[in-house]
Amino acid sequence: MTENNNLKNQSDKKNDKEVEEEEEKKYKIESLTKAGKIAQEVKKYIKPQIQVGTKVLNLIENTEKKIVELGGGWAFPVNVSINNIAAHYTSPIKDDDLTIKEGDIVKIDLGVHIDGYITDTAFTVSFNDEKSLENIIQATEVALEAAKMMAKPKINTKELGKKIEDIIKGFKFNPIKELGGHQIERWTVHGKKQLPELGVQGGDIMEEGEVFAIEIFASTGEGTVHNTKYSYIYELNPYAGRVPLRRKTSKQILGHINKNYKTLPFAERWLAKDFRMGVMFGLQELVQQGKIQVHYVLAEQKGEFVAQSEQTILITEDGFKQLT
Ligand code: MN
Ligand code: MN
Repeated sequence: MTENNNLKNQSDKKNDKEVEEEEEKKYKIESLTKAGKIAQEVKKYIKPQIQVGTKVLNLIENTEKKIVELGGGWAFPVNVSINNIAAHYTSPIKDDDLTIKEGDIVKIDLGVHIDGYITDTAFTVSFNDEKSLENIIQATEVALEAAKMMAKPKINTKELGKKIEDIIKGFKFNPIKELGGHQIERWTVHGKKQLPELGVQGGDIMEEGEVFAIEIFASTGEGTVHNTKYSYIYELNPYAGRVPLRRKTSKQILGHINKNYKTLPFAERWLAKDFRMGVMFGLQELVQQGKIQVHYVLAEQKGEFVAQSEQTILITEDGFKQLT
C-alpha cells in the first residue's frame, strides 16, 4: 500500500466516523423531540382529570397508560406529590386510597423516554384559595421562564440558580435547597450537572447538545426537605457488582429490572403485574445488597405547601430548544 492510499483510507475512516456521529445526533434530537411532544400531549390529556375527589392511583395509571398509548416509554413512575410532600410520591403497590381534597396543592411530575432519550416535566394545580397561596404556582412559572431564557452554551447554572432564588423570594416563598434542575443523559434522569435553586450553591457549565430539566420549587416553609419513612420508587445501582441473592424472586426481579427499566427509576407498583408474590421481600433483599437504591418520599414540614414547575430543554448553538 502506498503512503497516499494510507492517507486516503484514514480520511475515509474519519468521514465514516463523522457521518455516524451526525446520524447519532440526528437520532438523539428526533427521539428527544418525540418524547417531548408525547409529554405535552399527556399533560393536556390529564389536566381535566385533576379534580377534587380524583383518586391519585387512577390519575397516575391513566397518565402512565397514555404515555404508552402515544408511543413513549416511562422514564420514571408518575409522581403526584400533594401539599408538603415535595417529590417522589407515587402510588404504592398496596392501594392507599389517596384522593385529591379541597385545599390541596397537587404537583404532577412525569417523564417520557424514547430509546433512553428522556424528557422530564411537571406542573402544579391548586385547590386552595387561601390568599397567601394565590401566587405560589405563578412564582414557579415566572422563575422557570426567566431561568430558561438564560440557558445557552458556556453559562454557569449557578447564574440561573441566583435568578430562581431572587424570583421565588420576591414572591415571598422559598426555593428548596436540596432540589432543583439537573442535566439529563441517555437512560439517566439525573445526570452529572446540577442546576441549583440558590445563588450560593455551586453550578456547572452548560454545553451545546446537553439536555437539562429546568426544575423549580416554591415552598411556604424554610425551603428544605427531609426523607420520610415511605418509599415507592427504586432504581438500579449501576456501580454495584455481582451480589449473592438468596431469594429466587430477588433474582427474577433483578432480571426484570435489567431488561425493562435499566438505569431508570421504577415503581414497586409496576412489579405487581409480573410478580404476584414476594415483590416487597425481593426488593428488600436487593436494597440490602446494595443492588438497587431507594427514593424516599421527600417532604417539607407538616402544614407547609410546595409548588413545582419543570420543563426539559436542549442546549443549542445560540440558546435552547424547549422540548416539553
Ligand atoms: Mn420531574
Ligand atoms: Mn427533574
